[in-house]
Amino acid sequence: MQAHKTGLKPTCREVHRLVSEGLDRKLSVVERIRMRLHLVVCDACTRFNGQMSLLRRAMHSFPPLDGEGGEGGAAEVKYKPHKPRGPK
Ligand SMILES: [Zn+2]
Repeated sequence: MQAHKTGLKPTCREVHRLVSEGLDRKLSVVERIRMRLHLVVCDACTRFNGQMSLLRRAMHSFPPLDGEGGEGGAAEVKYKPHKPRGPK
């Protein structure tokens, strides 16, 4: 009785793999459905999935580390929030 090895209920490990692979390639419909089904019932994997998409978004917003365009006004703005200079 080992019918549910590749049943509709993937294990956490498989879902983690699917989530990671989903960043590199397009998952098939079946894979996505199985992932979805598992995420509905598994908090841990839901969190994992959220972190992965956060990571992916962060990676996309980071400039490529080619040593080009190192300086820009954007970084400076971060350090200096708008501080109105009141007259003394
Ligand atoms: Zn899980």
